[in-house]
Order: sequence, then C-alpha cells, then structure tokens
Amino acid sequence: MLVLPVLRVGSSSRYVSLLQINMNGLALNYNGFPISGYFDERTSDAVKNFQDRFQLNRDGIVGPLTWKVLIDNVMAVQKLLNTRGYSVGAVDGWFGPATTSAVQRFQRDHGLYPSGIIEPRTRRRLFDPNARDNYETLMSSSTISSLHPRVEAQARRFLELTRAAGMDVRIYAAFRSWDEQDRLFAQGRWAPGQIVTNARGGDSYHNWGFAFDAAPFENDEMSTDTQQFIRMGRLGQQAGLEWGGTFISLVDYPHFQNTFGLNTWDLLNGVRPPA
Ligand SMILES: [Zn+2]
Repeated sequence: MLVLPVLRVGSSSRYVSLLQINMNGLALNYNGFPISGYFDERTSDAVKNFQDRFQLNRDGIVGPLTWKVLIDNVMAVQKLLNTRGYSVGAVDGWFGPATTSAVQRFQRDHGLYPSGIIEPRTRRRLFDPNARDNYETLMSSSTISSLHPRVEAQARRFLELTRAAGMDVRIYAAFRSWDEQDRLFAQGRWAPGQIVTNARGGDSYHNWGFAFDAAPFENDEMSTDTQQFIRMGRLGQQAGLEWGGTFISLVDYPHFQNTFGLNTWDLLNGVRPPA
C-alpha cells in the first residue's frame, strides 16, 4: 500500500482533498469544511471527532493509524455496496464519484434522501438491513423505562444515591427520537438558532437508550449551581455511568451514559452489547 503523508492544520495537497472526500462521504463533515485540499481548523475538528469515535489519540493530526481506520471504514462501505449490487468498481478506500453515485442509487432505492453520503440511516440500511428493533421510529421519552434495561438499572441506582444524599435530582430526557435528533442537528445549520449538536438522528447515544439527562432541583426549580451538578455527576459515576461533566470535547453536565464500549457506528452496523 502506498505511504500516505501525515496531514495536519496548514497541510495543503491532493491528499488533503482525499482525506476530505473520505470524511465527507462518511458523514463526518458536520461543521461544513470545504473540500479544498487545504487542511483548516474545521477539518481538524472533524478529524478529532472521528478519532474520538475510534478511541484514537484525538490530536487532529492524520497519521498512519487515523488514515488506516478511515480507509478501512470507506472500504467496508464499498464492499457492502458491491455485494448488494450497487457497484462502486474497485474497493480502493477512496470515496470518489463512483462510490458517491452508488450510495445515491442505494438511497433512492431505500426511500432515503440521495445525499451520496453515509448518514446514520443510510449506514443502518446498508450494514443492518434486517434490524428488527424499532429505535428509528420510537418517540422521545423522559421516563427511565425508555432506556436500555442495563442503563435503566443504573439510572435507578443513581436516583437512589441522590436521594440518600438528600438531593432532589430529576431525569428530564432519556430516549430521544431520531427525528428529534435530526431537528436538533438542523438547528444552526439549515434551520434558525444556534448549533446544539454534531449528531444526526441515530448518531447520539440518546437515540439508543444508552444516555439520559438529569439535573438537581432546589425548591422545585432546576439548580443553576455548578457545584450541585458536580455532586450529582459523582453519584452517577458511583452508579457506573459515564458523566458528561468529564467530557473533553464538549462538557455536558446533565448528561450520563453507558456506551458498553460501542460507538454509534457499531450500533448502526447492528452490533449490540452482550446480554
Ligand atoms: Zn444528553
């Protein structure tokens, strides 16, 4: 295999264009970097997001390992498209015009918008065509019974711990519908408002019942005291949950999750936590 150059902010070459078409094709261009052959800050942020997904060192630099994981992901898509009769030609790891056109044909045949990129719903149709769950059409819910059974048990334990600590903690969001997630993703992009998320429908742990949001209340009002959120966060960690207050990329105090070591592409591809 050819040796690919290490790319970072400031790099400028046809390899940067190849990086950008691959990331764009895999629906990683949530912040709208131009496919310009110039490695800008937005490209770097999108690389970090990708590195987070695959537990790679999130330095925003595209070295041999990041290249490999990226190209492997494109090849997995190309192989499946070929298998399903949507020919991309050679499985070469580059998300070029033939791959884009095959994705569009696949999307049209499956009632999806023909964007030519592997958005979450497209990924699921392609990788997990016989999915028998109904996550994609479930309604949003703030009740903990809408969570995955193991996360639900942890949420109950967490609430017990907060009560024992004399706190009034309430869960205000649990399962989030994929449509609602898509509306949130549109906000600040092609809909009015501020950007609130980088996740499309299917790309948030809330869309799988693996995450919930909670807040401490005082006198029936949501607390504005960061210390109370930190206290709450520690109790969630005691219950075995990951707490958004420890996130590096986007600190999220009300957020708790259990990922079972899976990223959202694993889930879209049909991988589930062991029973
Ligand atoms: Zn959340």
